[in-house]
Amino acid sequence: MRLITYQSSDGFQLGVVTERGVLDVAAAARAAGVPRAITPDAVFGRGLPVLERLRALVESSADAALYLDEADLTYGPAVPNPGKILCVGLNYAKHAAESGAAPPEEPVLFSKFNNTIAAPNEDIPLQADWTTVDYESELGVVMGATVRNVSVDDALDAVFGYCNMNDLSERNFQMKSGQWLLGKTLDKFLPLGPYVVTADEIPDPQNLSIKGWLNGELRQDSNTADMIFSVAEVIAYASRIMTLEPGDIISSGTPEGVILGMEPRVWLKPGDEYVVEVEGLGKLANRLVEA
Ligand code: ZN
Repeated sequence: MRLITYQSSDGFQLGVVTERGVLDVAAAARAAGVPRAITPDAVFGRGLPVLERLRALVESSADAALYLDEADLTYGPAVPNPGKILCVGLNYAKHAAESGAAPPEEPVLFSKFNNTIAAPNEDIPLQADWTTVDYESELGVVMGATVRNVSVDDALDAVFGYCNMNDLSERNFQMKSGQWLLGKTLDKFLPLGPYVVTADEIPDPQNLSIKGWLNGELRQDSNTADMIFSVAEVIAYASRIMTLEPGDIISSGTPEGVILGMEPRVWLKPGDEYVVEVEGLGKLANRLVEA
């Protein structure tokens, strides 16, 4: 299944993209007599156990009035209120090299916060002193089950789905102390979406093309096969430290082609647009604007 969120006067609504259009899940649930509202937070917070019920709702919703035209909708962030936001640094060998770093021997984990969440097509405001802004196309992972000390072999069973992410970064802030935190947590610096594609449709997350375009020019062009630590290895590793739960998201690292690795470096500025496309997950486009 392909899930989206979209804006309404009632906040973000959940939709399922089908051949008939986008099913308005809340309206379909009401029509089917489901007592409780089915919100994006409820679905991502419950995770995998909800999927079968959602699938059944799509199957049983025949009324054409329950389906919307995707072109008429304003997307919300694919996961509007994630729990934890984990990111993996230097997870592609060529990107580590262009960053002047040795390939890490263990996953380099860092975090973002919910203030970084932004929707597809949403403008990203840049403050005047954010002068070294860079893009990072990434495969995003949405957790669907609670795991602690999970094995690499079992890790993918806990994945709800996948989405495009752009791990926007301000390099001066990222490098000026020993912590990357400041450069990674600027407002709206993690747009994601437009779809969460459920894991059953992505049997091998380590064989997906991953691309990024700046103002239409191809800048990043790689494959998730080039990850140093696979999605399963990252989940297993993180779960030795912390309990991972439904609604947690992981941005699994960016391939080469970022501005940091170029000479000369022409940083992102207001008016620029970056587009991320991981194979099968649609396209995530965002424009930078003056704050
Ligand atoms: Zn990143």
